[in-house]
Amino acid sequence: MTSILDARGRLDAAGSVVVLTGAGISADSGVPTFRGPDGLWKDYRPEELATPAAFARDPRLVWEWYGWRRSKIAPCEPNPAHLALARWAGRREGVRIVTQNVDGLHTRAAKAVGAAGPTGADDAAGRAGTPLELHGCLFRVRCTGCRFRGEHREEIDAGSREALPRCPECGALLRPDVVWFGEALPEAVVSEAFALAGEADVCLVVGTSAVVHPAAGIPAATAAAGGEIVEVNPEVTPLTSRAAVSLRARAAEAVPRLVSRQA
Ligand code: NAD
Ligand code: ZN
Repeated sequence: MTSILDARGRLDAAGSVVVLTGAGISADSGVPTFRGPDGLWKDYRPEELATPAAFARDPRLVWEWYGWRRSKIAPCEPNPAHLALARWAGRREGVRIVTQNVDGLHTRAAKAVGAAGPTGADDAAGRAGTPLELHGCLFRVRCTGCRFRGEHREEIDAGSREALPRCPECGALLRPDVVWFGEALPEAVVSEAFALAGEADVCLVVGTSAVVHPAAGIPAATAAAGGEIVEVNPEVTPLTSRAAVSLRARAAEAVPRLVSRQA
């Protein structure tokens, strides 16, 4: 049996599956990584900009960087891996997607295939196709002064501090709704992800080196509860030796063959 059929058999037989994705799934959509040549901005390292201290010191500079990152990602489209996962989660009960990515491509895929419900992420009927975003999303904002959160795709005017996006409810500065260095991950999202992982028969890990905690603990939680790990990654990772099946393949090529109706 080829390993792709082996992996598909395990996914078909599973009652519930948690899918954990990382930067690698979006590599096939052309989303730049932080470290690659397209990921660098001016002379800054992300660790110097993606922090609460940097935003407190110079919100204009931090928003300018996020505006640039959005402009790089906005033209990228969900690839066949995002789309196949969204369709699968939309039609099969017991499949949920958890992502470390902040590019919003799983959410766009869910909308594109009609798995997100008419109002997208907040619609209960569409929850299945909508990912749990562990690190937030570049196209969402939250208020630095109150509890307001929302989608935000408008162009950022970072020409002056006065022009930066403001909260429609209290007028305070809005910030990107992403997790910065030194910040905790959103508690409710993390506990839901771990609860799903602990109950899942299979954790399908796509495009993440699985070394960044706490996300790295998600496949471990499935394994500790007696479930299996299936991995898709062109490279060997720290998870490979613990996986029931590990496919050395690109996400856009392998994932549709694992989860689509017609393989
Ligand atoms: P990572 O950079 O540590 O690992 C990426 C993994 O993807 C590697 O194991 C690599 O072998 C694999 N990969 C490369 N091309 C692939 C392909 N075509 N198909 C499948 N796998 C492929 O990324 P990470 O584990 O997600 O962690 C990095 C952190 O950086 C995360 O916290 C994430 O939030 C952030 N980040 C996000 C994005 C995004 O939103 N798209 C992009 C860059 C970084
Ligand atoms: Zn506010």
